[in-house]
Amino acid sequence: MTKVACPDCGQNIAMHEIEARTVTQTSGFATNYRCPFCRADFDDINDNMV
Ligand SMILES: [Zn+2]
Repeated sequence: MTKVACPDCGQNIAMHEIEARTVTQTSGFATNYRCPFCRADFDDINDNMV
């Protein structure tokens, strides 16, 4: 199963545990993700795959 390391607290988060939110930006849509452990927001999870 794919997991992501939180850039803030370093916890490994399973994909289904991440809170994903699609937000509207001037350039279109973007997806933000939120760590369920420390509540940090991060935009790009692709660099943090473990
Ligand atoms: Zn975190």
